[in-house]
Amino acid sequence: MSTKAVILIVDDVPTNVQALALLLKEEYVIKVATSGVRALELAGQDPMPDLILLDVQMPDMNGFDVLKLLKENSDTAQIPIIFVTGKDTVEDEEYGLELGAVDYIAKPIRPSIVKARVKTHITLKQQHDQLVGMATHDQLTGLYNRHYLSDTLSKRVAHAKRHGEALSVIIVDIDHFKNVNDTFGHLTGDIILKAVANVMQDSARKEDVAARFGGEEFIMVLDNCTADDALVKAENLRSKIQLLYPEDIAVTASFGVVQLEKDMQRCEDLLKNADMALYMAKEEGRNRVILYEKKAL
Ligand code: GH3
Ligand code: MG
Ligand code: MG
Repeated sequence: MSTKAVILIVDDVPTNVQALALLLKEEYVIKVATSGVRALELAGQDPMPDLILLDVQMPDMNGFDVLKLLKENSDTAQIPIIFVTGKDTVEDEEYGLELGAVDYIAKPIRPSIVKARVKTHITLKQQHDQLVGMATHDQLTGLYNRHYLSDTLSKRVAHAKRHGEALSVIIVDIDHFKNVNDTFGHLTGDIILKAVANVMQDSARKEDVAARFGGEEFIMVLDNCTADDALVKAENLRSKIQLLYPEDIAVTASFGVVQLEKDMQRCEDLLKNADMALYMAKEEGRNRVILYEKKAL
């Protein structure tokens, strides 16, 4: 992974922007904004900046206010910000750092110092991203892990309830996986887990969450998705897995599907109900999709 880090330079004076851009453009991808409003727009757009160099004195919206708004938005709150400014009193610097800037550079800039500080903060950001990635993903399959799933599921359930939106969950469990391990060995078992995980990942929309829930169990959380749509999706996954033959081994999986109900209070219940449907799928002969229905079970 040697993609260049992205830096957003914000200054109302174009020559200041140019000076910084010239200094950094070889090592980084540069985005520029000459107003606070434009900075807020660009900060939230792909490619997201890994660092923002932010002027303080700008007409309309000053840098302190830009920083506050960036910190209030969960999409941009984690982007490190360095103030680059002519306001260089101790009080200004103190205030900027208190607001959450990682550093404060006074104008006129000294090129080597700017480069060094930028490099330090980019490195820290990349290390931070790597740690977050490890803490939220399953090492074997690269899917989200159970910890992340629990976190995001409760947020999404709350959101869906608040906005009266549909939300569905699919739980997947590979059939007779113990036999696969016993017959072909654990390493082959691992390859099969990865292959099944890839099928899940490939059929996830951008807003879906595909996670490894446990050993050979996976979960998909589908925003804005009714039970009918989730059933279609699950059936699609089921048939893809059946046709996969990873390592030339016949593999199937069973599926439980559930849609969030208005009166369902806890997201643990959602998982419990999905699991009940999965249990039925196993009972009825495996390699099938069962929808959780209150009365039916
Ligand atoms: P069922 O159809 O009822 O789900 O049967 P099963 O054999 O799939 O279910 P069971 O829960 O009895 O066994 C799950 C197996 O998954 C046992 C365990 O060794 C295996 N497993 C769990 N995690 C991993 C892993 O990371 N790698 C490998 N290779 N196997 C794993
Ligand atoms: Mg299992
Ligand atoms: Mg199983």
